[in-house]
Amino acid sequence: MIEKYIQGYYIPNISRLAEVVIKVLGVSAEVDIRPLRMKTSDAIGSAEKYTNDWGYTVFIDTGILKADELTDPVISLVIHEIWHVKQMEDGRLMNNDVYTVAVWEGVHYTMTMPHDQRPWEIEAEEMAEACFQKVKDHCLNLNILS
Ligand SMILES: [Zn+2]
Repeated sequence: MIEKYIQGYYIPNISRLAEVVIKVLGVSAEVDIRPLRMKTSDAIGSAEKYTNDWGYTVFIDTGILKADELTDPVISLVIHEIWHVKQMEDGRLMNNDVYTVAVWEGVHYTMTMPHDQRPWEIEAEEMAEACFQKVKDHCLNLNILS
């Protein structure tokens, strides 16, 4: 169960969406959601492994957390980020501690590679599209859509 209160945000809808996505994508690791700390790029989400190795954190833009509305772009974003969790859980995606290097399926990439050319990002976008309707239907059934 994902915590509905995080550092001043109350996110019952996003918590339930994340649980739907975890189920649909077949993620077995623990996942929590936290506010995105860095505003270094125009990113609105990111995913990281916990330092203690037993789970993952998905970071989401604070404006999205404040609104807690399950719009189509929010659904796509959560699928995208939790698919990165799945890639890491399956050992296909690894990062160094400072996120300057990624290892994707055994091949090293430097993060100077443009975001939209990184194969793990392309795959996450494809999964967000492929799973969108299924996740949205689950949300409709749970009556949590905005
Ligand atoms: Zn991504």
